[in-house]
Amino acid sequence: MDHFHDRDGVMHAEDVALDALAAAEGTPFYAYSSATIERHFTVFRDALAGLDDPLIAFAVKANPNVSVIATLARLGAGADVVSEGEMRRALAAGVPAGRIIFSGVGKTRAEMAAALIAGIFQFNVEGEGELHALSEVAAALGRTASVAIRVNPDVDARTHAKISTGKKENKFGVPLDRIAALYATAAGLPGIRPVGVAAHIGSQLASLEPLEEAYGKLGALVATLRRQGQTVERVDLGGGLGIPYDPSLPPPPGPAAYGAMVARVTAGWGVRLAFEPGRLIVGNAGVLVARVITVKSGGERTFVVLDAAMNDLLRPSLYGAWHDIRALSPRAGGMTATIVGPVCETGDQFAEDRSITPVQPGDLVAVMTAGAYGATMASTYNSRPLIPEILVRGRDYAVVRPRQTLDQLIGADRIAPWLKERP
Ligand SMILES: *Cc1c(COP(=O)(O)O)cnc(C)c1O
Repeated sequence: MDHFHDRDGVMHAEDVALDALAAAEGTPFYAYSSATIERHFTVFRDALAGLDDPLIAFAVKANPNVSVIATLARLGAGADVVSEGEMRRALAAGVPAGRIIFSGVGKTRAEMAAALIAGIFQFNVEGEGELHALSEVAAALGRTASVAIRVNPDVDARTHAKISTGKKENKFGVPLDRIAALYATAAGLPGIRPVGVAAHIGSQLASLEPLEEAYGKLGALVATLRRQGQTVERVDLGGGLGIPYDPSLPPPPGPAAYGAMVARVTAGWGVRLAFEPGRLIVGNAGVLVARVITVKSGGERTFVVLDAAMNDLLRPSLYGAWHDIRALSPRAGGMTATIVGPVCETGDQFAEDRSITPVQPGDLVAVMTAGAYGATMASTYNSRPLIPEILVRGRDYAVVRPRQTLDQLIGADRIAPWLKERP
């Protein structure tokens, strides 16, 4: 469910007309709905209400805008971060350090030190080398790192290969049969307190079965570790729940079904559970609004060229991802068009041979479900400035990241000293 809807023939975000926003702020831009972000978080939280004090750590990489994180922090969300930059954003947004989980397969020593000094909740450690490095850094600082070992449960998440993370050939986590030895090593290392295990098997999961399979393996692992005398207080179940992109397809299982499965599978574990939802919280809470520059027809295909491109929203080019594309003020009739951006790449395409309501140059369109892995993956390829992010709340809106100017973009370059002299 989201708060983008038609009112008087034009798409609104909550009570803000998106065509008026386009006139005031220019295009393209991302618009986010506070009400949708809040709703998705509270629905997820309520679905887990039967659990004992779960930590819901929003996966910051899905949408790291500080205002987006702050919206969630006010509801009690924690943060799952994968870099020092994301940790700083979470702290700046008001997430307490005690609710921050540091994930990721390549934390540097400098990042470890920054997180130890901040006093974060937990490091999810992905391998033996990382564990030893963290021990050295923590010992040198006189701190103790709470560590969960990330398990690679070797389950097939049945999602796109590029967002599948829990098969044994993926780079993530530690194989199941090596966890017990690593946990014992951790227990003996200075500066390390092993607190539990973690898993995250992939993103945009369309079914609960792979999750249930992975969680079953985690439960067995907890029992094994305890039999070996280890203390296991926490289990981090990761993120990954899918969201509906294509309204013509059956929607993925929702938070209620997920919460019921988790309650059933984890009953009796006697641990504090953590969750790392990203896409589920913010995906449907954002749209990318763009203007039609031109419509090219006459050849094999009709191309609608937008002023937004793959550098603004990479998912269609990177994953072949499907996004609904709607005119803000739909005209009567229909057309079939391939919807592209102006970037000089054939892969710069939002949709192929798509049936849409007819559009003309100057019309506004919204690329739906662009709140997750949208702005966060943007680049300035083709020297296109980063576009603004706008957060709507009821009748109000705020530009929570202004449009980058060409001066900022170009002014970041430096002329090498030898090029300053005349040839
Ligand atoms: C990306 C990621 C998430 C969030 O995944 P979603 O599919 O957006 O829920 C959670 N945990 C880890 C470790 C991740 O890398």
